[in-house]
Amino acid sequence: MNKRLQNKLEKEIRVIPDFPIKGILFQDIFSITENPKILKDVVNELSIQCKKYKITKIIGIEARGFIFGPLVAQKNSIPFVPIRKKGKLPGKIMKKKYKLEYGYDQIEIQKYSILDNDKVMVIDDLIATGGTAIASYKLLRGLTSKKLTFSFIIDLYNLGGSKKLKALNNNICSLIKVKG
Ligand code: AMP
Repeated sequence: MNKRLQNKLEKEIRVIPDFPIKGILFQDIFSITENPKILKDVVNELSIQCKKYKITKIIGIEARGFIFGPLVAQKNSIPFVPIRKKGKLPGKIMKKKYKLEYGYDQIEIQKYSILDNDKVMVIDDLIATGGTAIASYKLLRGLTSKKLTFSFIIDLYNLGGSKKLKALNNNICSLIKVKG
């Protein structure tokens, strides 16, 4: 991974204590989109991973995966496909329910957007406990037989999500690893 970019991201990403609730150190990735030079470097770095794994489709997880995903897809001239929260996508869909701290949530993808031989890269801004990413893994496992790649700008490594996702035999790329 690009050390110069890592140093820049560590310096530039705003960290806001006690948002949205007390005790959370909120990583504000909009400090990246406000800076066109860093945004370009982030998209270039994710594109290197895209080429390395011969990715044929980019998948973005709602909502912040929708910021970086389409930029990477466009740069590599490959399609962008969204994973959305419950009830937002029309047509035939595949669903995966997953557990939150309190209650359940559900993510969905359009059934015919991914083909069995697609090599997909799933993009989200951040991985923490891995709940969202692992639900996405389970959803996609029913659609493509190829190994999946997950890319994040930030890995809150001490919360264990990336370790769990790697144990499921996925490629994982994160631009920086910080304590959550
Ligand atoms: P998780 O499912 O626990 O891995 O949480 C990942 C999702 O929650 C990502 O889509 C993030 O956008 C959001 N998230 C979790 N923790 C933080 C944090 N400390 N700062 C910003 N976003 C977070």
